[in-house]
Amino acid sequence: MNDISKNCPYCNQKMSQWLPPPESDFPQQIHMVCFNDECSYYVEGWEWMRQQYNQNVSYRFRLNPATGEKGPLPVWSSSALRSGIIE
Ligand SMILES: [Zn+2]
Repeated sequence: MNDISKNCPYCNQKMSQWLPPPESDFPQQIHMVCFNDECSYYVEGWEWMRQQYNQNVSYRFRLNPATGEKGPLPVWSSSALRSGIIE
């Protein structure tokens, strides 16, 4: 894994290793997720989802280092899904 995949491209903070909950649709592999509450991807996600879908949710930037696949991880609060973080 190189340095680029460890840092969020939106806020340049180190991303966390994260394992999806068993009921999740994501493959049961370690993903890299930006859990920075100040990340622009996450901050702007609230406003965007409200305008587009009238929903009070946001998303965090997620990367699957095994496949290189990246995309949004929907969250409903700041603390959502943090239990999957691997220290
Ligand atoms: Zn970020």
